[in-house]
Amino acid sequence: MSERTAGETDVVVVGAGPAGMAAATRAASLGLRVRVVDEQQSPGGQVHRGVTRGDEGVGPRFGDEHLRGRELVRALHASTATVEPGATVFDVDPELGVAVLRDGIAHEIRARHLIVATGAIERAVPFPGWTLPGVMNAGAAQVLLETSACVPSGRVVLAGCGPLLLLVASQLADAGANVVAVVETTGAIDHARALPGLPRALATPATFARGLAWLRALRRHGVERIGGIRSLAAEGAGRVERVLVGVGDRAREIAVDTLLVHAGVVPNPQLARLMRLEHRWDERALAWRPRVDAFGRSSDPRVSVAGDGAGIGGARAAETDGAIAAIDAAHALGAIDARVRARLCAPLLRERRRHLAVRPWLDALYRPPGWLVDPPDAAIVCRCEDVTAGEIRSVARLGVRGPNQAKAYTRCGMGPCQGRVCGTVVTTILARAAGVAPAAVGYYRIRPPLVPVPLAALARMPGGGNRRDERTGGAM
Ligand SMILES: Cc1cc2nc3c(=O)[nH]c(=O)nc-3n(C[C@H](O)[C@H](O)[C@H](O)COP(=O)(O)OP(=O)(O)OC[C@H]3O[C@@H](n4cnc5c(N)ncnc54)[C@H](O)[C@@H]3O)c2cc1C
Repeated sequence: MSERTAGETDVVVVGAGPAGMAAATRAASLGLRVRVVDEQQSPGGQVHRGVTRGDEGVGPRFGDEHLRGRELVRALHASTATVEPGATVFDVDPELGVAVLRDGIAHEIRARHLIVATGAIERAVPFPGWTLPGVMNAGAAQVLLETSACVPSGRVVLAGCGPLLLLVASQLADAGANVVAVVETTGAIDHARALPGLPRALATPATFARGLAWLRALRRHGVERIGGIRSLAAEGAGRVERVLVGVGDRAREIAVDTLLVHAGVVPNPQLARLMRLEHRWDERALAWRPRVDAFGRSSDPRVSVAGDGAGIGGARAAETDGAIAAIDAAHALGAIDARVRARLCAPLLRERRRHLAVRPWLDALYRPPGWLVDPPDAAIVCRCEDVTAGEIRSVARLGVRGPNQAKAYTRCGMGPCQGRVCGTVVTTILARAAGVAPAAVGYYRIRPPLVPVPLAALARMPGGGNRRDERTGGAM
């Protein structure tokens, strides 16, 4: 046996963000044995990261949402659910054996039902110079700020699109960073495209109030905003020194020490793809999402997907998603009947519709432009294996039609991130090169382990780590 004994439980929840916390708490309240696993050191997910350290003064700076996060964490800890922090799920076998790596030791939990609540990742948008030191994701800067109270020194520029871009810019400026400009792809065309969604979006005035507060903060700090950019590049000798943006028919150069990039978030595809859940391409969001029913049940009836991992909806929608998935899991496992499920879910389904009312407007307004999602030939797309967009297009010209074939030809997606960063971009490049829909191109066939796992940890697992992988027909 491994140092940690393999366990068995009714429900394993992967991810302790708002969706996972709400799912675990609700499932436990319905009498199920629940285990929630998250790679972070404490529950909270992306939006409520470090929230339990708020008592020490880090969290409250970030407003009401953190108070909500603390309530969710408290409810989770008060429930009968077992929480495993610092634990990464690296495989799920066809019998729902969930393989977890924690403190360098691997163990397995066998689940009767699995709730995947692994959230979102930032969309990768390769552009010339994005691999230079000093260029990073805005979300990564937010993590540093929220976990370690770190702000970048020198001149900071944020570029891209999406509410998180404005939020991080205002957070950094409030925290004392020298944010000189926010350059956005969003322009007049996007505002016009988004207009039809505005009346429904206005039904959630709190969302607007938050956005306006960020814009006010940027004005207060004298941050320049440049909208409707048509190109983006970073340059410098050994590290980023300037950002070049196309505004109308002019080129503008801004001196920078740190360039933070963000072009929205997309569902984290890895675990759902590993389990071969069916996916569909969401053209509005320019991203893949797993096929789920109203309760979050996926194409595998033993697996639900809740929260941003099922489609971007924000923290409050993720919370309701999690609770709905838990109630549905209780029904699937025979703890409640269909009538009780319908009664418990009805108010939550209404609440979720309310939280999602703003999405069509947001998605249309902050849709990344074609030039940003289909990068120029010289841009490195797969950072692990140094594969450029041009190389992917050249194999497309040879007749390569999908990411797995492109991987065989170029090694793109074969590095330690397992294609997590470049997957959506490679789909987009191949689809546009062949003039077909992304759905016709598909996605990487994700194989275990999802993250690098020490061989010693695998060998010490029950069965000597000999996890047969039915999906690939071989051992892991
Ligand atoms: C970088 C980033 C920053 C964001 N910041 C904000 C913000 O400030 N405000 C805001 O309103 N929204 C923010 N969002 C959007 C926000 O993530 C969501 O709306 C909300 O948190 C979704 O909740 P969730 O429970 O679905 O996922 P999350 O909150 O993302 O939680 C998912 C959890 O799953 C865990 N996980 C993932 N894979 C594994 C695995 N293999 N094994 C174990 N654990 C795993 C992660 O550690 C994470 O804790 C951010 C998104 C990103 C990507």
